Amino acid sequence: MGQAADRRHLAHLVERHRVDNGRSFRLSRVDPGDTGGFASKEEAAPLLARGVERLEEMQERLYAQNSQALLLIFQAMDAAGKDSTIKHVMSGVNPQGCQVYSFKVPSAEELDHDFLWRTTRCLPERGRIGIFNRSYYEETLIVRVHPELLDRERLSPRNRGVKIWRQRFEDINAFERYLQRNGTVILKFFLYVSKREQRRRFLERLDERDKTWKFSADDVRERQHWSQYMRAYEDMIRHTAAPHAPWYVVPADHKWITRLIVAEAIVQTLDGMKLVFPAVDSRARAQLKSARKLLER
Ligand code: ATP
Ligand code: MG
Repeated sequence: MGQAADRRHLAHLVERHRVDNGRSFRLSRVDPGDTGGFASKEEAAPLLARGVERLEEMQERLYAQNSQALLLIFQAMDAAGKDSTIKHVMSGVNPQGCQVYSFKVPSAEELDHDFLWRTTRCLPERGRIGIFNRSYYEETLIVRVHPELLDRERLSPRNRGVKIWRQRFEDINAFERYLQRNGTVILKFFLYVSKREQRRRFLERLDERDKTWKFSADDVRERQHWSQYMRAYEDMIRHTAAPHAPWYVVPADHKWITRLIVAEAIVQTLDGMKLVFPAVDSRARAQLKSARKLLER
């Protein structure tokens, strides 16, 4: 493929993995091993480099314009590559314009509040890109697979009946709509790794000394609930994909295609935000003129 054809192909690929209406979404239609028609990491490399560069450019405009924020949410099973995707895709971005937050098991203080509290405090300011490495969606994933975790949230019995997951989706949808109305553009990524590839990566963590620190026995335990997790992911996407807050279900067995799709999805979105550097009015222009005189004197 030539460069222009490659770019068109990539744009279509991103479209194909975008879910903005979950009603008919089925996880079984996505193949975690998909490489989207690209032959190799080497073939994709120039496209990724270009994506990273464009992201850098557009982030500068987002920052200068200072009116909208971009929120990127990453969800995945362990070892799907959230950390490394964030690292690669954002590698060109000015750290001052970007904030990354990782959400782990909630603390006692966090459990004393409603489930959206801790993430709300970390939302990106205008002009910034905010990244959530895990998010309030955990409240419909791990907590759904292990409902005993709800005990720690101390909800009244009335509020933790069978409808709780539907209600959480409803609250999340309302929250995301609210954010959108207030200038935050939201993109959500589910990095979809296969159970088999996860196993391979866990074994690699055990085998390679500089990866062992990442290994956790808990992660291996969670594998036993794989199909429950996949059902929870599917239901979550079906109920929370919306045009103003789409999910991208990204194949994650090959890290290079994951990075490529994520970078392109962000670039496309920033493109659609019509970001321009603030215009200089006549008064400011006069000031610039006198500043120049002063400097040249
Ligand atoms: P890594 O393992 O790559 O360092 P991680 O995101 O997996 O990163 P961990 O320290 O393993 O980080 O902690 C994350 C754990 O916290 C996950 O098992 C996740 O499901 C859990 N978690 C996150 N949010 C919640 C929540 N709201 N309620 C309960 N558990 C949560
Ligand atoms: Mg972990």
